[in-house]
Amino acid sequence: MSPDSPRQCQPCTACCDGWVRITVKGFEARPGHPCPFSTGSGCADYPNRPEIPCRRFQCGWVQQGSPLPEWMRPDRARVMVLPAQGDWQGLPVDLAVPVGRRIPPRALNWLKAFAEREGRPLVYLEHDKRANGEFAERPEMMGYGPPAFQEDLARMAERGSSFW
Ligand code: SF4
Ligand code: SF4
Repeated sequence: MSPDSPRQCQPCTACCDGWVRITVKGFEARPGHPCPFSTGSGCADYPNRPEIPCRRFQCGWVQQGSPLPEWMRPDRARVMVLPAQGDWQGLPVDLAVPVGRRIPPRALNWLKAFAEREGRPLVYLEHDKRANGEFAERPEMMGYGPPAFQEDLARMAERGSSFW
């Protein structure tokens, strides 16, 4: 949570619940495996949460001056937006991470329109499930932006690399 932002996280815990991979006090949170301190509406050990990743983590929705509308709070819109996670030909690349398997159409359409309007290429992820019910190790990576950006992204995905 940003101390300067008028927006408050609670009851969102999307970044604590494993949709972005984080290690907290030796525990690896990943899709399907939330941080053990997440209550689903807050943190059970908030005063003792570590600096990294907890105190430093800020999604785009909670940042001061965020362009994301109120309804895009990650637990509601089912997407976390991490602004400017990379650079493509001098343009900032935003990353959208689903809170769940896929970003719902309303939120994804909003993000694509924003990417187009602002000239900010977008990378968005999907969390696929394996036959054993676990989420795949690496999320699938999709892009929205100029054709040359999509081609570069496809090449990066083939090589197993990414923008961040
Ligand atoms: S995903 Fe964003 S709004 Fe939700 S708890 Fe994390 S920083 Fe706060
Ligand atoms: S320790 Fe608390 S703030 Fe940090 S990831 Fe876990 S639930 Fe979230």
